Amino acid sequence: MDFRLTDEEEAFQAAVRKFGDKVLRTHERQLDAEGRIPDEVLSEMAHLGLLAMPVPAEYGGMGASAVLTEIAAEEIGRGDFSMATAVFFLLEAGWGHILAAHGTEEAKREVLPAVCAGKAFLGIATTEPTGGSDLANMRTTSRKANGGFVLRGEKAFVSGVEEAKRLGGGHLTLSKAEEGGFRFAYVPTRSPGITTQKFDNMGRMGISTGALTYADAAVPAKYLVGADGKGFEVAMEGFSVARTFVSAACIGAAERALETGMAYIRERTAFGQPLGKFEGIQFELVDLWTQVEAVKWQCRRAAWLLDTYTLRGDESHRSEVNRAVAAVKLTAPQISFECVKRVMMWFGAAGYTKDVGLELGFRGIMSYLVGAEGGLNIMRIILGRELLGREFLPYK
Ligand SMILES: Cc1cc2nc3c(=O)[nH]c(=O)nc-3n(C[C@H](O)[C@H](O)[C@H](O)COP(=O)(O)OP(=O)(O)OC[C@H]3O[C@@H](n4cnc5c(N)ncnc54)[C@H](O)[C@@H]3O)c2cc1C
Repeated sequence: MDFRLTDEEEAFQAAVRKFGDKVLRTHERQLDAEGRIPDEVLSEMAHLGLLAMPVPAEYGGMGASAVLTEIAAEEIGRGDFSMATAVFFLLEAGWGHILAAHGTEEAKREVLPAVCAGKAFLGIATTEPTGGSDLANMRTTSRKANGGFVLRGEKAFVSGVEEAKRLGGGHLTLSKAEEGGFRFAYVPTRSPGITTQKFDNMGRMGISTGALTYADAAVPAKYLVGADGKGFEVAMEGFSVARTFVSAACIGAAERALETGMAYIRERTAFGQPLGKFEGIQFELVDLWTQVEAVKWQCRRAAWLLDTYTLRGDESHRSEVNRAVAAVKLTAPQISFECVKRVMMWFGAAGYTKDVGLELGFRGIMSYLVGAEGGLNIMRIILGRELLGREFLPYK
């Protein structure tokens, strides 16, 4: 077993870190204040191949492995502490992969090159006003009509609603098919019969969150993703991929928080010596660093499992993949949030100011604790199911 990155992976990581340091750090306040990622940042991401990285080259992507995408997600989470750019990045990477793997040729040729060029947005719409965890009981329906189908219902808390309206693009949307099973399809946001609403979030302000309402919105058959009626399984594959990149972004943010904290506790003195000399702080740092290091390798392994099995369409290690992804998505946001919170406290009153900037991460990472890409308890339910068996699911 070799834990080293290849020369190409190392060079790519260095390039993305440089982009994070030079471009993302200088824009994070602006994108938080203005509520959008500046166009020049998106163009630079497209130039570096960072948009929808796993999409094959023939559709405009770089055909990156999950491991390479995970490495990039970590750097982007470290660069834009608010998480907004990381969300944009990981949605396009995760759901771009799903469209490339399960979409029709026509849809792939139409949608993916624009997404990879930063000229269209691609996201996911599963959550509804009545809930996001219990997807099997969703209320949005679709029925076959005029060679395609029509959608009726409402999605809520969907990331990128405004971006898809502004740039073009849309969301892979899960609905209950009236003919049976679940239907998963790319739905362009600018389609007739679709209205949107923007929500007022507390963090990751550079990417919008909102609602999509479908009043018998017509969707052509070419936008179907995966076999008709089998959409649930395809959506779950996408969640495994996206959750791994979410976790990586949280790890990058945790590392930045610790680096910020370490620089401070070396310099700041109290009672005649640097804060870092006091065990009450030094040991806290060591405990946090150890946990971040553990979850970082857990995340890398989850990405490796995706490359080795899931992204090759190999279902033979499904339970192992489910466990690895749920475990890292359960752990990474929590430890990341804890790092930010603790470092804010090392800074004392200054940690509570916008000047120090830790509050950007505090507000952004919190989104993953309340539910984005699946709540913590849903990760626990997945792990319980995989460890004990389906008969131990806490619901019927
Ligand atoms: C910033 C942000 C961006 C988001 N972006 C998207 C997006 O792009 N697309 C999209 O479709 N959705 C998106 N979501 C929604 C997200 O997927 C949901 O928040 C999540 O699935 C949980 O659904 P819910 O919020 O309706 O909570 P609920 O399902 O109502 O659950 C409420 C709480 O109860 C817990 N819970 C639920 N069931 C159980 C149980 N059986 N046992 C124990 N605890 C349980 C949950 O973990 C949660 O903490 C986003 C959310 C946020 C905050």
